[in-house]
Amino acid sequence: MARIDLDVPFSQKDEAKSLGARWDPQAKVWYIPDGAEVGPLARWLPIPDDIELEHEPEFCVRSPYYYVMESVSDCWKCKALTRVFSFKLPEEHEDFQYFEDEEEEFALTRNLGEWQSYGLRSTVSNVHNLSPRVVKKIRRFTECFKLAYSKTAGARYFMNHCQHCGAKLGDFFMHSEPGGAFFPTSPAQANKMTLFSINERFDANCGLGYASDDFMEYMQIVDK
Ligand SMILES: [Zn+2]
Repeated sequence: MARIDLDVPFSQKDEAKSLGARWDPQAKVWYIPDGAEVGPLARWLPIPDDIELEHEPEFCVRSPYYYVMESVSDCWKCKALTRVFSFKLPEEHEDFQYFEDEEEEFALTRNLGEWQSYGLRSTVSNVHNLSPRVVKKIRRFTECFKLAYSKTAGARYFMNHCQHCGAKLGDFFMHSEPGGAFFPTSPAQANKMTLFSINERFDANCGLGYASDDFMEYMQIVDK
């Protein structure tokens, strides 16, 4: 491994030196000598300037508009059919990708990243956090999509509850099993789903599911 140059302000040079940094009088730069420990000097590592890094935002998924998605599922407890909800995001949505450095102890790069778009539609699941604006909107559709603890996931997230008996309906079966409420595998199944178009920003901390065919063209689309 070659030496690593540092970005040490003049006022901090003595501190850097005491932590192991060395001075290159020709290049006029402080550096970490070959084989020395990086950790104590990590705060002076230069930020790469070829990408524009941002600090971790409050919500790591964003979209200029979105759809409230309604489907039906069997309730495992009372066996009745119940309405269930999720969100569909258009191609324009983005998610915040953390900047990954091979040296994880680089404190400087933690919580830094950039917004990325894949140009694909996605289905939202495991919603840990929603912006107040989106919460207000989903409340117009249902009171049964609310924060609850999942033993399977080991975390609290916005979960559907049976509209009849109140049982928790976890995301796993509806999102990850083919034929689940939000995992249509045929036009006929997609035809029973409704997308309510919401012309407002979407912000959340959630998982994103990308299907090779999401059958969206067979879903009912309603402008709200
Ligand atoms: Zn039920």
